[in-house]
Amino acid sequence: MARVYNFSAGPAVLPEEVLRQCADEMLDYAGCGMSVMEMSHRSSVFQKIIDDAEADLRDLMGIPENYKVIFVQGGDSLLFSTVFMNLAANGKADYVITGNWAKKAFQEAQILGDAVAVASSADRNFSYIPDCSDLPIREDASYLYICENNTIYGTKFGELPNTKGHVLVADQSSMFLSEPVDVTRYGLIHAGVQKNVGPAGVQIVIVREDLVPDDLPGVPTMLRLKTQIGAGSLYNTPNCWGIYVCGKVFKWIEKNGGLAAMGERNAEKAALLYDFLDESDLFSSTVEPRDRSLMNVPFVTGDKELDAEFVAEAAKAGLVNLKGHRSVGGMRASIYNAMPREGVEALVGFMKDFELAHR
Ligand code: PMP
Repeated sequence: MARVYNFSAGPAVLPEEVLRQCADEMLDYAGCGMSVMEMSHRSSVFQKIIDDAEADLRDLMGIPENYKVIFVQGGDSLLFSTVFMNLAANGKADYVITGNWAKKAFQEAQILGDAVAVASSADRNFSYIPDCSDLPIREDASYLYICENNTIYGTKFGELPNTKGHVLVADQSSMFLSEPVDVTRYGLIHAGVQKNVGPAGVQIVIVREDLVPDDLPGVPTMLRLKTQIGAGSLYNTPNCWGIYVCGKVFKWIEKNGGLAAMGERNAEKAALLYDFLDESDLFSSTVEPRDRSLMNVPFVTGDKELDAEFVAEAAKAGLVNLKGHRSVGGMRASIYNAMPREGVEALVGFMKDFELAHR
């Protein structure tokens, strides 16, 4: 069996230990004689799986009791609408546009009501995070929305915006559980798990209880946060398997030191790559140093053919999924929690050799 170093932006690398546990339990989970994929979501066995997953996530992130946690489906792409329908009480919300995903969230809000972009970094192809210390947030906007880590452009908010007393909503998909966060600073956090936490098909929503409306006339049942909150994420059939794998990853993170340890390891891994990019004559980072993501690292040679050659040669060396997103071009290395330091060292070593050979 040959495992590669997988730099995919998502679905992405998972901890090998977790994959092995899942394999071991595939035919018989905990003496049930069946796989988690085959069991009822109404069974006591699955109830324990989802209860444990939520409890472990709460421990990891230090989620206060007045925040609700739900596991849902439909993609973050659906949550863009759900968030607006539930939290924009008066139909008004403001957005910071830092890339494709923030833009998509904004566009959904525009379909549904009155959404305004109060800052954007589109002028330099989203290569930085705009100054958010004094945004023209509308007095009556229900919330300020950010995409905290921009998967495609490789930027991250180093500090959270000054919301001027407004509720902050963040898409944390590509940084979820990669470092400690202070949940109390947010009204709502949403994240797809397919980057740092599990297989595609599960999104986690963490929302302050008092922001969840009881009554939402005209909003379909499945788009009301209250529905899944009230049903413990079991209003309808959830992605049982996905939630089970997330639970295993939560335990893996805890065993490996929790979010503080993840944050330190991730900072070290990212520094290996950024330090090399900053000293290289061939490769360069596309992102302002101050705003660089620890998770998604785009880089270019400046020559499209050479970029393509690099991606192909790297794949032959077992370093896969390094092709950049079409909006940035070049390469992108996603180095989530489960990417071992050795993977980043192998990548940097390969880049050094490639540079020597192409001088
Ligand atoms: N937000 C971010 C930050 C993303 O990276 C992505 C895509 N991976 C999405 C939202 C959209 O997620 P989905 O494809 O699950 O709708």
